[in-house]
Amino acid sequence: MATLHNGAIEELKRHVKGQIVLPTDPNYDEVRKIWNAMINRRPAVIVQCKGPDDVPHAIQCARRNGLEISVRGAGHNIAGNAVCEGGMMIDLSPMKNVRVDAAKKRAYVEPGATLAEFDEAVQAHGLATPVGINSTTGISGLTLGGGFGWLTRKYGMTVDNVASVELVTANGKKVRASENENNDLFWAVRGGGGNFGVVTQFEFALHPVGPQVLAGLIVYPLDQAKQVLRQYREFVASAPEELSVWVVIRQAPPLPFLPKEVHGKEIVVLAIFYCGDIGAGEKVIAPLRRFGKTHGEHIGVQPYAQWQKAFDPLLTPGARNYWKSHNFRELRDEALDTMIEFARKLPSPQCEIFVAHIAGAANRVPTDAMAYSHRDARFVMNVHGRWDTATQDATGIAWARAFFDATTPHASGGTYVNFMTEDESGRAAAAYGANYARLADIKKQRDPENVFHLNQNIKP
Ligand SMILES: Cc1cc2nc3c(=O)[nH]c(=O)nc-3n(C[C@H](O)[C@H](O)[C@H](O)COP(=O)(O)OP(=O)(O)OC[C@H]3O[C@@H](n4cnc5c(N)ncnc54)[C@H](O)[C@@H]3O)c2cc1C
Repeated sequence: MATLHNGAIEELKRHVKGQIVLPTDPNYDEVRKIWNAMINRRPAVIVQCKGPDDVPHAIQCARRNGLEISVRGAGHNIAGNAVCEGGMMIDLSPMKNVRVDAAKKRAYVEPGATLAEFDEAVQAHGLATPVGINSTTGISGLTLGGGFGWLTRKYGMTVDNVASVELVTANGKKVRASENENNDLFWAVRGGGGNFGVVTQFEFALHPVGPQVLAGLIVYPLDQAKQVLRQYREFVASAPEELSVWVVIRQAPPLPFLPKEVHGKEIVVLAIFYCGDIGAGEKVIAPLRRFGKTHGEHIGVQPYAQWQKAFDPLLTPGARNYWKSHNFRELRDEALDTMIEFARKLPSPQCEIFVAHIAGAANRVPTDAMAYSHRDARFVMNVHGRWDTATQDATGIAWARAFFDATTPHASGGTYVNFMTEDESGRAAAAYGANYARLADIKKQRDPENVFHLNQNIKP
């Protein structure tokens, strides 16, 4: 492991307001831990930034001392690039401030905020913007890769709602990027990941949402999956954009509304979210109950911020996670049948196949409007391999890869950069898609030495 000499550490401590955490410190193991327990790396130094002014000092110190830099938002990314081996981890998680200008429908968000912290602050004003479905995810990594969630059909990707960013570039300079300033950077950070600098503030456009929404689950047995999934596909093709229905195929967790004998059995879940008028929503969702004979349902009017946490208990940190993901323009019969086939051989009770329907506003943005390029994606599928012990890795990974391979012929060829694992760096070009060449050009100008390379890297 590289080490920082005492003089460099003392200098960092003099300039940085946040905490400097070293391998000898009692909180070191806690601070370097991230969501995916498969990743276990030991940085030489962790700089826990307290504010934007700490970031340039950290970058300059790392560069002077030849340390690799990793950047951590909330540490959720599956690939684990937030933490480095022997380098400097710039930990933004203490920077959590969310300021809302309700009149202008804008939020100014520091990079360490989680989705829960963001949603809570904006929902206090009845506002929201599309973000992901697990509330402990970081706003930073999610936004920089694209970001989608229950509001995406209506309001687009998270990046479609970014109005400006403040960031620190590779040379340690603080800059603002928007349509009018540093337009190249503004274009690049909206989908280009952490390749261009350390973002210290995001400005988001907000929309009136809820606070009460209609949401919940309808659960079917797997032996009805064929008819359920085909009807689902027809139904969502003409559903209003206030409605999102996602599919989760897995073994039933012990949910109280399911009969005990169903627990542990393979099920098809329709996860439902409607953000329009509640009475209208009740009518819109009614046909979803008639796709077969359900095991049960749990649907009701609830606060949007509460629904945003609904899946948290299944996605807690500390498990070993291995994902494979495809974008789809359409769900062909063959793809649906492959999902059912692989659902019959789930390698652990925590594994799931998950299909997000995101068709709508996101598809109407031109491909070259910003770095995020997958404007043809109507569905995002994630094979979510998850288990508790390293001895399960081989079987679980083999299952995820086999399923991924079997569905490849029916997918769009694009993939979501935020779902890529550490062994998928070969897919970076597919993940940045049609905009890769321009991204590489901007990278060459803004970070020619590839200081920010611990990410799904764009080579300068
Ligand atoms: C359980 C779970 C559920 C998810 N659900 C969704 C979902 O519904 N929708 C969706 O779109 N995504 C979802 N994701 C994926 C999520 O968007 C990514 O994992 C995202 O990278 C997490 O952001 P983070 O800040 O927590 O991650 P981190 O691991 O902290 O950061 C990821 C990477 O982003 C870069 N980075 C982070 N912050 C900064 C910054 N401020 N400046 C520069 N670079 C930075 C770094 O390269 C870092 O390695 C989910 C992930 C998990 C684990």
